[in-house]
Amino acid sequence: MKILLLGSGGREHALAWKLRQSPLCTALWIAPGNAGTAELGTNIALDPNDFPAVADLVQREGIDMVLVGPEEPLVRGIYDYFQVHFPNLPVIGPSQVGAQLEGSKAFAKEFMLEMGIPTAAYREFTAATLQAGLDYILTQTPPIVLKADGLAAGKGVVILDDLAAAQAELRDMLSGKFGAASAKVVIEQFLSGIEFSVFALTDGKDYLILPEAKDYKRVGEADSGPNTGGMGAVSPVPFVDEALMKKVEETIIKPTIAGIAKRGIVYKGFVFFGLIKVGGEPFVIEYNCRLGDPETEVVMPRLQNDLVELLQATHEGILSQQQIVMDPRSAATIILVSGGYPGDYEKGKVISGLTAVKDSMVFHAGTKNSSDGIVTNGGRVIALTSFGDNFDEALVFSNRNAEVVKFEGKYYRRDIGFDLH
Ligand code: ATP
Repeated sequence: MKILLLGSGGREHALAWKLRQSPLCTALWIAPGNAGTAELGTNIALDPNDFPAVADLVQREGIDMVLVGPEEPLVRGIYDYFQVHFPNLPVIGPSQVGAQLEGSKAFAKEFMLEMGIPTAAYREFTAATLQAGLDYILTQTPPIVLKADGLAAGKGVVILDDLAAAQAELRDMLSGKFGAASAKVVIEQFLSGIEFSVFALTDGKDYLILPEAKDYKRVGEADSGPNTGGMGAVSPVPFVDEALMKKVEETIIKPTIAGIAKRGIVYKGFVFFGLIKVGGEPFVIEYNCRLGDPETEVVMPRLQNDLVELLQATHEGILSQQQIVMDPRSAATIILVSGGYPGDYEKGKVISGLTAVKDSMVFHAGTKNSSDGIVTNGGRVIALTSFGDNFDEALVFSNRNAEVVKFEGKYYRRDIGFDLH
């Protein structure tokens, strides 16, 4: 089977690595990919949001399956586009309506409300209801959580302790701070607890639960400083015991999949449940319509199934015939980032030491091949994933290799998992 994987991050390198282990995968293309995926298949320089260009590639190479890594093509409707142009081609991901679970926070909140799924209480406002929004803020106890409805590159959530500042933020958002993404704003109750992520694969009626994970979003140690795409992750998550997982399945996963089926939403792909444990109870913070990055870099290594077989079953609607097999060991990943990230940073720094890494898997994120060798090409550069009997043991290897891999300006967090002891 010839497979096309869309995306270019550490998530895609980990997916490419996993796809390549399947005897069913006879050839792999990655668009646009990175220097790591280039070692596993053929990188094609095209924008995954340019659907006609993706379709040309599918036609030209006789692709048998498309796996979509990032959210943007899904939210823009790549699934539906291929339904029209290549109706028999398996595209792994939700339809455009299904992708609204990530693409519109108002859609997701309304969905959860209808399905009785535990999540923070909320109201939504537009420019036409600005005054009602300003008044509503005054009735709330800080912190106040304001969320741009649409995709805002991970920057659309603002949490404020001050009511006047929250009112000013609401005005800014509704007057276009995040463009069309903040034409609608969700204001929700602040939930205090510890976050974790659970992933499911669904064919729209059945689901399989993949290994859970916890990522570390803040750039600084002890979760300080600005948010990033993710600085590290661990799986499994020590506080996610069987009892908590049972609650997640019964109160969140089952009703979500039932809701997808009830609404007749076509959804053949991954669902990412961004969760928070509040006093022993799980609540949904957000849905994503694809796998997370860097969580994929710990989830894929722990998954022992043939990924292509799982994706085929997803497309055929026979997921109930499959069972997930997980490596019981812990996996942990540390992300090496460019100095200055998530603010301004330089690209093009030569990366050395990659072949000297021992006892860790190397997943490339922002890297590319150049005449100088492999160079940095983004904020997040390399993920170093290791196994251990627990996450501390796994991190010993990742930390050691974080010193082995070198590039100018390299930075990484040395305290991944700090809150799990
Ligand atoms: P991502 O970049 O993870 O996709 P996003 O921009 O879609 O994020 P959310 O995941 O909804 O936004 O929120 C970002 C972060 O803000 C969460 O990971 C969480 O730490 C915090 N957060 C969001 N909603 C709440 C809430 N109701 N209570 C407390 N914290 C919250």
